[in-house]
Amino acid sequence: MRGRDRIRSPGYYDRSVPECLFCGIAGGEVPATLVLDGKRVIAFRDVNPEAPTHVLVIPRDHYPNVAALASAGDGLLDELVTHAHEVAVAEGIADSGYRLVFNTGQEAGQTVGHVHAHVLGGRPMTWPPG
Ligand code: 5GP
Ligand code: ZN
Repeated sequence: MRGRDRIRSPGYYDRSVPECLFCGIAGGEVPATLVLDGKRVIAFRDVNPEAPTHVLVIPRDHYPNVAALASAGDGLLDELVTHAHEVAVAEGIADSGYRLVFNTGQEAGQTVGHVHAHVLGGRPMTWPPG
């Protein structure tokens, strides 16, 4: 698939979006504290942590949200969740419990349009979230 057809094709996303902060982190142009450096997925510490452990897990390629990532259908969402759990194990919060959050859309508080799973733990958490 080429040119216009490729751009119009449903489910196609640019692999890297120039103005995207997390594409910048994935590409190494924006500094971040990496905790996992995989072929298709990376994880790094949130710059403004809301819990003792607060790590963001992202695909290297750009998808705007978790639904778009699920639609890719190539196992990448499974891989991302598997890596999120590995981060929780490495951070020592897998047994005590952790929260895996995909904020999706404005009212949910999504501020970065490159899908990311928050791995939060290391303290008791309340429900429902604010
Ligand atoms: P969202 O609000 O979209 O669910 O989550 C975006 C997260 O990205 C926020 O928790 C925010 O603190 C984090 N964040 C924003 N800018 C940066 C940055 O430049 N570096 C890192 N490591 N995290 C960031
Ligand atoms: Zn991006």
